Amino acid sequence: MGKLDRATLLAEMGLAPVWRLRAQGSEPRPPDAVTPAATSAAIAQIAPDAANAGQARKTAKAVTGAMNRDATIRVMEWSDLKQAVPACTACGLHAGRTQAVFGVGDERADWLLVGEAPGADEDRLGEPFVGQAGRLLDAMLAALVLNRADNVYIANVLKCRPPGNRNPQPDEVAQCTPYLVRQIGLIQPRIIVAMGRFAAQTLLATDATIASLRGRVHRYADVPLIVTYHPAYLLRNMPDKAKAWADLVFARRTMAELAGGR
Ligand code: URA
Repeated sequence: MGKLDRATLLAEMGLAPVWRLRAQGSEPRPPDAVTPAATSAAIAQIAPDAANAGQARKTAKAVTGAMNRDATIRVMEWSDLKQAVPACTACGLHAGRTQAVFGVGDERADWLLVGEAPGADEDRLGEPFVGQAGRLLDAMLAALVLNRADNVYIANVLKCRPPGNRNPQPDEVAQCTPYLVRQIGLIQPRIIVAMGRFAAQTLLATDATIASLRGRVHRYADVPLIVTYHPAYLLRNMPDKAKAWADLVFARRTMAELAGGR
């Protein structure tokens, strides 16, 4: 399969109307917001009595707010996104960050690598995978004759560091995922490598284990996606390094097959 064309990728991501607007030469704009009037009409339908209406209104407000936020992020260009992420206060993690960690690399890369969340080093330096796990990742990329500046983009599911490097919480993943989704839409990678449980489970919308997801070509919005272990896990479980290397070789082979089928 050749590089996905922009229209196909946008359609997969539910962005077809915006693409059509651009094709006609109009300025891109967010899809129509969900209005309070429409929300009130919907509430009247689902909760006609006063007692339920209060709760329904609160829920509807939260839902419509989230829908409008997602719709806005979905059509951002790089410059907007790079302003929105450092300014984000959508979850509690903003309070403890030194800085948000947006992502690094070639914005038109064929390879997209997705990790979990910044750690202490990343929070301090503002770049993904710059600590010990990052050095291992760079070594593995070098073995594939790749590097983070050239034809590779590296991003995380979460842009802000969870305190004490704890696991991301579901609400944090939910608030931050639209940024990653938009990064993917802008990069249009030819392959995605999901490193670790949180990247794999978020992008594939599954709760399956890494072990059960490895060794197959998955799809994210029609982009081939390979699952592998997180580099930090490999630092603690050295014997699994060989499996991670096999995953990257599998990803490279998948890329080569895609190029051959072009
Ligand atoms: N672990 C991650 O998942 N991402 C980073 O950026 C660093 C460590």
